[in-house]
Amino acid sequence: MKALRGATALETHSAILDLIRTSGEVSRIELAARSGLTEASISRIVKQLLVEGLVIESGVGDFTGGKRRTLIQLNAGARHAVGISLDDAGITYMITDLGGAVVGRQHSAGIATTSPATVTKRVAQELQDFLVRSGVDRTTLVGIGIALAGRQDESHDVLRSNPQATEWEMFAVEDALGAATGLPVVIDNDSTCAAIGEYWTGRSPASEDFATLYLATGFGLGLVIDGDAYRGASSNVGEIGHLVLDVHGPPCWCGNNGCLEALAAPLRIVDLARQEPTTDDRLGLSGSRSNLRRDFATITEAAAAGDADCVELIEQSAFYVAMALVSVTNLLDLDRIILAGPGFNSAADIYLRVVTERLDRHSFARAVHPTTVSLSKAGQDSAALGAASMVLHSRMTPHQTSRPLAVVRAPGTAPSA
Ligand SMILES: [Zn+2]
Repeated sequence: MKALRGATALETHSAILDLIRTSGEVSRIELAARSGLTEASISRIVKQLLVEGLVIESGVGDFTGGKRRTLIQLNAGARHAVGISLDDAGITYMITDLGGAVVGRQHSAGIATTSPATVTKRVAQELQDFLVRSGVDRTTLVGIGIALAGRQDESHDVLRSNPQATEWEMFAVEDALGAATGLPVVIDNDSTCAAIGEYWTGRSPASEDFATLYLATGFGLGLVIDGDAYRGASSNVGEIGHLVLDVHGPPCWCGNNGCLEALAAPLRIVDLARQEPTTDDRLGLSGSRSNLRRDFATITEAAAAGDADCVELIEQSAFYVAMALVSVTNLLDLDRIILAGPGFNSAADIYLRVVTERLDRHSFARAVHPTTVSLSKAGQDSAALGAASMVLHSRMTPHQTSRPLAVVRAPGTAPSA
């Protein structure tokens, strides 16, 4: 955990809650030893957490010197968070408890080319119905986290960088949904959300750094450094999709040539499949932009079933993904990478195999340490789960986060600076 010397009372409170969360069950003596605080300070903080209902006494640990050691654990049901992933191909709603465990989930149609105002209205209604059905007490809700693809402006309202979705440019999703639901809303890109979700639900210690490669329609990289998401100057970190892998490669919509996205994203792989008449006929690809994700899923399913042409196409995509990750690993000296997001579909194992092989062979620091690659346990729902985790992370452990969710915004009021 971060050093508590000179920390404010709020930071100390938040750090001890985080220590209890990542420990599972822990005694006051162990908390004192791990935090460096005195047992008297720990007793005072735990008492406060008990009063707030955030932790419970869960049993008696080992006897030491005739002294009973009561164990403390998170009171997971005391608070809940909502995570929503607004994706072209589907909207995912998730409610988690304080520990990040999933209490309810729901899927509905994707945002596709629908206008943001219409989507926001629908989301507010679907969320209201979902909350009623899930039976979660609204007073226990900490807030709503939104995961979206796109770049952000300084006020953290997402700007869609996808030229197909210009209506989302300048639309303040955070404000619109806050006003429609009366709940605090925090927003981030889907890859950063997925990374926070892995951190929170995996109970990772704050000392463990890792990256999450997220694939939906395009690629994004989420980074957790020192127990918080690394966001860069403007929350636009991790645009791995526009890492140039071939300066003479095919043009990318961002203005460069040979970006990872132009070489390996679903659009490229579907295009390549359609250029092979036999593959195209066999798979019955639609070729339309609005069915892109369905077409790519068809290719991944065929690859998983052993279709040689599709295996070759996915391995080609995975090769470029792997080489991009080799560069990122060399730059950041990462020892852990998680593959997440709905884009991997049935082909996740092929990506995992190729990326692992390449990192083992080409990572600069391979003789010093391996780089472990794994698939997200949250599967297709990693962004929504991460968005819920982001709310908990920013609200419950503000000492760790660069994106606090401190303002509860009343419906219809302007955001504070
Ligand atoms: Zn690009």
